[in-house]
Amino acid sequence: MPDLPTIGAPPRPNPAVPVALTAIAVGLLSGLVYWWTHRPPSPSPTVAAVTPQAPSRPAEAPQAAPSAPGPAPSAPAQAPAPSLAAAEASLKSVSVTIAGPLETALVSAVGKETGAPLTQVVTRTLVWWLRVPQDLVRHDALSVVYEVRPGHEPVVHAVRFTSGKLGKTLEAYRYQAKGASFSRFFQPDGTELEERLTDGPLESYEQVTSLLRDGRRHKGVDFKTPVGTPVRATFDGVISRKNWNFNGNGNSVEIEESGGKRRTALFLHLSELPKSLQPGQRVRKGEVFASSGNSGHSFAPHLHYQLMLGDTVLDPFDSHATTRASLPAEEKAAFNQALASLRKALPAEAVMGAAR
Ligand SMILES: [Zn+2]
Repeated sequence: MPDLPTIGAPPRPNPAVPVALTAIAVGLLSGLVYWWTHRPPSPSPTVAAVTPQAPSRPAEAPQAAPSAPGPAPSAPAQAPAPSLAAAEASLKSVSVTIAGPLETALVSAVGKETGAPLTQVVTRTLVWWLRVPQDLVRHDALSVVYEVRPGHEPVVHAVRFTSGKLGKTLEAYRYQAKGASFSRFFQPDGTELEERLTDGPLESYEQVTSLLRDGRRHKGVDFKTPVGTPVRATFDGVISRKNWNFNGNGNSVEIEESGGKRRTALFLHLSELPKSLQPGQRVRKGEVFASSGNSGHSFAPHLHYQLMLGDTVLDPFDSHATTRASLPAEEKAAFNQALASLRKALPAEAVMGAAR
């Protein structure tokens, strides 16, 4: 599987350096050929900058070499996003047509400094609809409303994606429901973009920043969440390990499932664990046994949750039941208003079919 900078941190270096060098040479050549034969007409990407572009830098740090079982995290450093009202003045929009890698399209439209991190943030929405990059095809159209924040990754407010593979246009809008701790992405019908794990490790979190299906060699799901978020056992079991591979994993707990399946669940980058928590101790499903943190090889507060069966990595979104939450009826009017104003900020439909 390709190791692409889809979600979170950039891909790890390929350990097979000689092979990689050859591949790079071949890749450069074929990339050049690809670019020449597939280059879009010059006005293809359109950018509408509402205000002069503020300088920004990607808030990403490079990932370390892969190490089992504690791969590097990916949640980038980020301050709480400002409210839409406060941000409205600085909203920008961009519209691109896919004619190669998504990052190439966004970088050519908005520049590398914004385009690279924007690709990562946008990809966190696209992965809930299709596999990135495998399912992206030429002439797919992407429009994004976003906000550049110096020193932080961009905030994406709206994404509209027309997929040739799926034969439809998908939309997601950032919205903070009343009483909710975080803004989240909702589809026009008011359902959440992200699936949630039934009996997952966190009751509340901001966003999934890495999924197994995103094609990186990352064995867990990363949940972006503030330090101190209660972490729950995802099944009845016994604590089998604590704080192993501390440099990478930080404060960490492994729970071995009791009874039939005997899966193991790994919880990494936690806050300091209570002394009373020791291997051999039993935990019940749903029991809070730790708090999330930012320890070990972690660049921003998040929980790395990993599920194993022996040496096999399981996808929590396959192993656990999942749900898609909906906005309550009384939120619909406010959401529809926010949606209408963000739709207005989206550029006119990208130049579908024109890039030839
Ligand atoms: Zn992780």
